[in-house]
Amino acid sequence: NAMLGILGGGQLGRMFTMAARAMGYRVTVLDPDADSPAGGLADVHIRAAYDERAALDRLAETCAAVTTEFENVPADSLGYLAQRVRVSPSAESVSIAQDRIAEKRYISGAGLQVAPFLAIEGAGDLDRNLEGHLPGILKLARLGYDGKGQVRVKTAEEAKAAFAELGGKSCVLERQLNLKAEISVIIARSSPTEVACFPVAENQHESGILDVSIVPARVTPAVAAHAQEMALKLAQAMDYIGVLAVEFFVPDDDDLVINEIAPRPHNSGHYTLDACAASQFEQQVRTLCGLPPADTRLLSPVVMVNLLGDIWRDDEPAWDKLLSQPNVKLHLYGKKTARIGRKMGHFNVLADDAETALSQALELKQMLHA
Ligand code: ATP
Ligand code: MG
Ligand code: MG
Repeated sequence: NAMLGILGGGQLGRMFTMAARAMGYRVTVLDPDADSPAGGLADVHIRAAYDERAALDRLAETCAAVTTEFENVPADSLGYLAQRVRVSPSAESVSIAQDRIAEKRYISGAGLQVAPFLAIEGAGDLDRNLEGHLPGILKLARLGYDGKGQVRVKTAEEAKAAFAELGGKSCVLERQLNLKAEISVIIARSSPTEVACFPVAENQHESGILDVSIVPARVTPAVAAHAQEMALKLAQAMDYIGVLAVEFFVPDDDDLVINEIAPRPHNSGHYTLDACAASQFEQQVRTLCGLPPADTRLLSPVVMVNLLGDIWRDDEPAWDKLLSQPNVKLHLYGKKTARIGRKMGHFNVLADDAETALSQALELKQMLHA
């Protein structure tokens, strides 16, 4: 059976590995970390940096196709691999997604709406008239996640101080919008005619980190359909092959704004593991292998809750509180050390409707925190 390669051995790589193996593939994980969540489950774990030539050569020689679990791998590594082996997502797609300036320019160039933003590539860029962009959020253009590398600013002076605080690196200054909700759409695209779209998730964040996803999202059918249309349009513009996640802001007037994209399965798509006919990781395997995407239908309303390191004390949390519930599915990532804000696992609550799932999910979350 064919070997698939993945750059990155975090939880997304682990869930990809589990899906691939269940489907009869073998998996090679490239990750420098000896304790990476995916490394131990993979058939082969190459411990090396993501740009180490010898490691990339080995992947190209032994794998039928290679993917990635995060957008911060060097796009050049994907380009190098693509000369010899099937790679998805492409180096071009990843390089757009790993730089907020390129990302926002690309999305608006495709005729889709983003929040008003300015590219801040040097302190001088903050001497312009910032009025239309304040109050705003100054975000590092590269490497930020879970709200890290972001500072909220009200005035030009605050923006300048924040730029210095972020090390003077390239940023975007984005207008802070009034949000009614946040939603996301995950699509799987194997070719221009083979595309599948998962149901829309409604996402709630706590301290910049995804906290819960509610599916179906509590938006009008028109808003949900519009989000799916926008995601498909963007993927088409990018000629995207693979799994693509698109995060949206829902403003008061429902005129959707794209926040950012991820060229991979997404935390807000973990509900698909238990509530859909196929998971987003199965779709990653299928799109990588040139198979058509599987059925994305929702089998049950669901709420996903992230488990952060915050609830670890001297002992592991009392998982029996979750496992004793017949409609709750627990997923732990096998990370050895818990830290505040670190994603350690998640659980899905299935119910007849999203509101019932949400109230049970929040009750269970409360209980774990107690
Ligand atoms: P992720 O872990 O999703 O990659 P990130 O660090 O890239 O996160 P963003 O998605 O840019 O961060 O922002 C994190 C959260 O901050 C958003 O989900 C939203 O709740 C809030 N936020 C970001 N930008 C804006 C904005 N322009 N207006 C209002 N809220 C915003
Ligand atoms: Mg992000
Ligand atoms: Mg985000």
